[in-house]
Amino acid sequence: MKVIETFNLIKKFKSFTAVENVSIKVEYGEIYGFVGLNGAGKTTTIRLMLGMLKPTAGKVLLFGKNITEGFNLWNDIGYIVESVHAYPNLTVRENLELFFNYRKLKDKNLLDNIIERLKLSEYQNVIVKNLSLGNLQRLGLARALIHRPKLLILDEPLNGLDPAGIIEMREMFKELSNGGTAIFISSHILAELEKLATKIGIIHKGKLIKELVYEDLEKELEKKLTINTSDNEKAIKLLTQKGFRPILNNKKEIVLYEKNTINNSDVICQFLTINGLPPKLLYPFEEDLESYFIRTIRNEGGK
Ligand code: ATP
Repeated sequence: MKVIETFNLIKKFKSFTAVENVSIKVEYGEIYGFVGLNGAGKTTTIRLMLGMLKPTAGKVLLFGKNITEGFNLWNDIGYIVESVHAYPNLTVRENLELFFNYRKLKDKNLLDNIIERLKLSEYQNVIVKNLSLGNLQRLGLARALIHRPKLLILDEPLNGLDPAGIIEMREMFKELSNGGTAIFISSHILAELEKLATKIGIIHKGKLIKELVYEDLEKELEKKLTINTSDNEKAIKLLTQKGFRPILNNKKEIVLYEKNTINNSDVICQFLTINGLPPKLLYPFEEDLESYFIRTIRNEGGK
């Protein structure tokens, strides 16, 4: 069964279409990374998924059920949407206790466990308005995770976390997904999503313009090997005879775009050296999610 399913979701604000025909499926154990420029429609999609906004058209199913008034699976869901909302004059622990009671949870260990897990023990008696941004984010995550939900929907959950915090969250999200939790996560920290997500969806101007599983993303990432020798024309001939398709870039360097070249740069180096053209430059380049994202958006005529 799918944990999240949206069918041709549309959300219009007056004549402006913020979300246009977005259909997304997320399964148990999947980490879905949702990326897009500012204003692309990520938060609106997340609000629609959580029933905080009513779609203009289309529908959302969570655990196969419509999120109408009778929806009773909220205890299986944890979420953060935009900034963390907490009572500013209460302490971290008091905020979590309120949430614990609101969720009608029974096992008091859950409270202590999550405080410890999110490294909030030291801050549990601090008034929320005095918390640092990163610790406020930790409180939001604690609230999203306290009841061990089967689905996590997280809008920019890494905001404000320090590098150690980001690594801790990565490990925690991976552990949760290995245990079967489905995680839908939007983030501008693409290097982090690249390490985390099993599927990536790119939203641009309200439309889901690309969706691909991690293995396919790996295949789509541009790989190239740039080479410079004392005689590039001769090197091109040699490489062509060898079966490569070398081209010259605008700096008159040789570029090989074949996928297997960056892993075989040693063989290519040896080949050119044996033929009297030892490379002065041999530069393997592999695109990351960030540049893939920018390239995809540009192809759509974005900024
Ligand atoms: P960011 O990365 O900046 O948070 P986002 O991808 O989450 O951006 P959304 O917050 O979903 O973007 O906004 C999508 C578009 O919808 C924006 O142009 C925004 O101005 C518009 N929008 C969102 N909420 C409303 C609203 N209540 N009324 C009118 N327009 C809105």
